[in-house]
Amino acid sequence: MENPKFSKATVLEEYGKPIQVHEVPIPKIEARAILVQVEMAGICGTDVHQHQGELGVGNDSPLPIIQGHEIIGKIVKLGEGRDTDVNGEPLHIGDRIMWEQTNCGQCYYCQVLNQPILCSNREYYGFLHPVALRGGFAEHVYITPPTKVVKIPQELTNEETIGVACAFRCVVAGYEKLGGIRFGENVVIQGSGPIGLYATVAARESNAGKVIVIGGPEERLALAKKWGADHVIKIDEVKDPAERKKQILELTNGRGPEVVIEGSGNAQAFNEGVDMIQKGGRYLILGMTSQTPVSFVPSLIVDKCITIIGSISATIGHYHKALQFIKRNQHKYPFAEIVSNKYRLEEINEALENMRLGKEIKPVIDNTGRLE
Ligand SMILES: [Zn+2]
Ligand SMILES: [Zn+2]
Repeated sequence: MENPKFSKATVLEEYGKPIQVHEVPIPKIEARAILVQVEMAGICGTDVHQHQGELGVGNDSPLPIIQGHEIIGKIVKLGEGRDTDVNGEPLHIGDRIMWEQTNCGQCYYCQVLNQPILCSNREYYGFLHPVALRGGFAEHVYITPPTKVVKIPQELTNEETIGVACAFRCVVAGYEKLGGIRFGENVVIQGSGPIGLYATVAARESNAGKVIVIGGPEERLALAKKWGADHVIKIDEVKDPAERKKQILELTNGRGPEVVIEGSGNAQAFNEGVDMIQKGGRYLILGMTSQTPVSFVPSLIVDKCITIIGSISATIGHYHKALQFIKRNQHKYPFAEIVSNKYRLEEINEALENMRLGKEIKPVIDNTGRLE
């Protein structure tokens, strides 16, 4: 098949300014590389901060870039020698895939610590110059030879699986670090965005005791209930942390939850989490991107004998496990309902703005209408 020569792509040229759609050249497909047509790209809070240049020192890329790191792509061209995905499934033109941020396999963190998430030389999709064609807010993405990919099970829709590409694989990686939820443990989840929602359904399927979600607005909490939350606490209605703690203690025999999961990204949530957790409990921090300092009494960690676990991102195995989870539970939970709105590529500015204003759960760029 003749390669397409150009791809439409949204290009961020100046932080905080509207993004324009351009035609950019498609690189030559080397051995083991893959060219995909983007079917769907999710927009998350990171994209909003990235657009504003607010990711902080070392994280804001030199411009211009193509944004978009949560991507489902349909294979258009397979480079020589790229025959299977990480699960050993054969890859064909037309298959839908997801892929991880690429690690080098050579550095201290990759080789000695065996923690590729911490790789010193990670290469990111959604953070690079348009010539690399490695951002999801485009018609095509070039997948590099070392990038590990996983095929999306045929029976799952794009809407059901797009959340795997960012939030859900983070939750799977975090739960592994946590050592899972033990039988009957009560779990409080702070935040009802995609991280909080996937943490909810994963806790429910882990034989948790009560699953309690603190968050808002209403639509997100309604979805949290559909995804297995036993109780929800609306943060706009119960504004005082002391009152929220009182409600949670009433639901957990006066002792607090054994496990708290931070998925709100709000720095203040940290103190609230430590305050409510049961003695001997475990606190998994997933959503925290805030740079805001908070004052904290460290002796609480010792007095309550709690374990605090931080986790960022994920590797390809976590994508695979998240996809298999959705496949197993496809008819039990309405996974597709996380997609709150679909936008065309040309509507990227509106999509980012609505995300910034908190009007969305998971808005997506949907290209399927424009692909044949
Ligand atoms: Zn994301
Ligand atoms: Zn490395």
